[in-house]
Amino acid sequence: MASGVVDLRSDTVTKPSEAMRAAMAAAEVDDDVRGADPTARRFQEEMAAIMGKEAALFVPSGTMGNLVSVLAHCDVRGSEVILGDASHVHLYEAGGISTVGGVHPKTVRNNPNGTMDVDEIVAAIRHPDGALYHATTRLICLENTHGNCGGKCLSVEYTDKVGEIAKAHGLKLHIDGARIFNASVALGVPVDRLVKAADSVSVCLSKGLGAPVGSVIVGSKAFIDKARILRKTLGGGMRQVGVLCAAAHVAVRDTVFLDIVDSRISSDKLCQILNKRNVLANPRSSKSIRLVLHYQISDSHVQYALTCFEKAVEELLMGGTDEFEHLADGATKKSSGY
Ligand SMILES: *Cc1c(COP(=O)(O)O)cnc(C)c1O
Repeated sequence: MASGVVDLRSDTVTKPSEAMRAAMAAAEVDDDVRGADPTARRFQEEMAAIMGKEAALFVPSGTMGNLVSVLAHCDVRGSEVILGDASHVHLYEAGGISTVGGVHPKTVRNNPNGTMDVDEIVAAIRHPDGALYHATTRLICLENTHGNCGGKCLSVEYTDKVGEIAKAHGLKLHIDGARIFNASVALGVPVDRLVKAADSVSVCLSKGLGAPVGSVIVGSKAFIDKARILRKTLGGGMRQVGVLCAAAHVAVRDTVFLDIVDSRISSDKLCQILNKRNVLANPRSSKSIRLVLHYQISDSHVQYALTCFEKAVEELLMGGTDEFEHLADGATKKSSGY
């Protein structure tokens, strides 16, 4: 990130820090397809401990993490997974659970807060007794934080409740926890407690956590043993992967959508003005802008961005002000030390 630029487009834009590059250079590595890479092994053990699960597996992407998890839980043909209609797994993973895995998606409406109504989840469950006509539910997927719902956090109470439902019906629970650390920090709940009810969790390392590549999935030892074979099947067995594991790093922030309620302001215009002030953000729709915080965004970047937002809104509503030009120049200089 160029100094003085506040880049809120996504947390996937983070570049590896000096410390990460040094760790990559120094990493002790071996062939991880044989399970022999000591850096990968240590990292996986550490992630399993942090997440409160028996075992962990490094995967190249969050998409593969979710796919491998769904396939590990739904290893009988004719399986169905209950998942949110606005979920990442359903909308943004190229349909992999069906096209590659033969798993049937049963969508339940996502509420604006990222949950699915528990009554609707229960109503969607299909048991094997009528299997002549329908697929059999084997898995429920939650997403925490929920990206498409503006980074909303699912509470530990809600997660536990869905876990109880899953257990009562003999189903597994998977959490797409691409940004689960954001939820943990925002809710003030330790991450292992937050995902206690889940049989598996997939966590992105390259989002808010700022690592250059990869995700981890966690779960029981039996789940990870299955997942390792599926990862290999999908072409995700990696050799000296310790180089990537060494870069995985912890630093957490939040993900936000900004909704524009004033009809005189379009997200395109607002973004143009902000971009000129070195605050980078992308429109999500004509009335919504996506803002993503990550570990390379400092408190003073946030302060500067907030000031620019206020001034940009003023400018759009009243016509340009010289004061804004003035202030933005000063603030850019001030924030360029970060
Ligand atoms: C980014 C993301 C993923 C997938 O991660 P990739 O590494 O881009 O494949 C999965 N779920 C959510 C909620 C995400 O934001």
